[in-house]
Amino acid sequence: MDSPHVVILPFPAQGHIKPMLMLAELLSQAGFTISFVNNEQSHRRLDQAAFRRRCPGIEFLSIPDGLPPDHPRTGPSTVDLFFSTNTVSKPIFKNLIASMSRPPPACIISDGIMSFAIDVAADLGIPAITFRTFSATCTWTYFHLQKLIQEGEIPVLQGSDEDMDKLISCIPGLENIMRRRDLPQICRLDPENPILKFYVTESSKMTKASALILNTFEELEAPAISHLRTIFPAVYAIGPLQTASKSSAASYNSSSLLQIDQSCLSWLDSQPSRSVLYVSFGSVIVLNRDQFMEFWFGLVNSEKSFLWAIRPDMIWDENGPSKVPEELIMGATERGRIVGWAPQEDVLAHDAVAGFLTHSGWNSTLESISVGKPMICWPVIADQQVNSRCVSEMWKVGMDMKDICDRSTVEKLVRDLMEGRREDIMKSTVEIAGLAQDSVREGGSSDRNIKKLIEDIKLLHS
Ligand code: UDP
Repeated sequence: MDSPHVVILPFPAQGHIKPMLMLAELLSQAGFTISFVNNEQSHRRLDQAAFRRRCPGIEFLSIPDGLPPDHPRTGPSTVDLFFSTNTVSKPIFKNLIASMSRPPPACIISDGIMSFAIDVAADLGIPAITFRTFSATCTWTYFHLQKLIQEGEIPVLQGSDEDMDKLISCIPGLENIMRRRDLPQICRLDPENPILKFYVTESSKMTKASALILNTFEELEAPAISHLRTIFPAVYAIGPLQTASKSSAASYNSSSLLQIDQSCLSWLDSQPSRSVLYVSFGSVIVLNRDQFMEFWFGLVNSEKSFLWAIRPDMIWDENGPSKVPEELIMGATERGRIVGWAPQEDVLAHDAVAGFLTHSGWNSTLESISVGKPMICWPVIADQQVNSRCVSEMWKVGMDMKDICDRSTVEKLVRDLMEGRREDIMKSTVEIAGLAQDSVREGGSSDRNIKKLIEDIKLLHS
């Protein structure tokens, strides 16, 4: 019999495309043929040739995302894709699958926020599996948005610390940990806000899929994973994917949509062991000039070395994206190094790096956990508020500075992470990194779940 054919559809953003590409690579290594469907912009920017050399079974295809070609697709404009993909991409995606020259797909694996693909799969009689690129804890939280609205917990109005620190009681398993301020950022919106409504709808449509894939591992999030098993007939926790797919640097670098600046690695080579703080706020969020200045001076005043990945569209003022002020770069001395886009996984694994100041995107969090680097978390949007709470209070692998952005806090937390509280935090950080690595070893939980996923897809094919 021919090999199973699987269609994979990520949401068109870096943090979604990368883990889904790693899954594609794993399935391809198992002998599957893969049709990987991007929007046209990501399709052009991916290093497809590099993937094809390693995994000839992956074919890259593209569909329009519904936005005009010159419409921005990162930063605050990312949300425009929520609505345009749903309306414009859906019929085109259906036609694409119906007219494929490859054998009919054994299943469609679609992003948890591209649930129109589940409708398409149902129309075409193809099984659908949903891949949520968030943590299990956050995925579980999103399933309670409607309940949070009913209980009056949404909108979270930014009030006194006492108000914001009140525990949330309506999410089973998280009663003693989740405060109002730790709810996903969309919970700060009005219940009628279209973005909040989008997530409520997507979460409910996701449950029509026959299975859920998560980039996490059982040992890290057992309680949330078992709660999710009450919603989905099958849940496959197969992460950390970058470790599971035994990705070489070439592999995860070719999943990057932005040009990687490798030069920072030789700079890191010249730095003492565990002396540098890596700073990155991911591919989407933006900082206003005041926020940027607070971080900058906090870092400089800490007197620690830092490597900061600053995308060209990361700092915004009233006129749009703005550059790092020249005088700051000139005065940064040898202690501060800036790159536009870093080879993040190599950086985090580098011996010179002591820790990570992060926006707590799920990929970044898991990448840091996997190589045992403790974090300072400054969450802004989406799942980041939940992740930072897990990092600081559940797993104790970092510190959370949510809702605060001032230079003295940055300076203090950097010193705490690099010196004062380091020994304490490193105990759990090292322990959890070990669990992450064990999970993807032969016989580990994620390894078993990946094998089960592969076997289950083969059954769909037969
Ligand atoms: N990343 C990178 N270089 C950078 C910054 C980020 O390669 O300079 C990668 C990082 O390794 C991660 C992804 O971009 O895999 C960001 O995903 P995440 O979920 O952390 O955040 P998002 O970008 O979705 O907010």
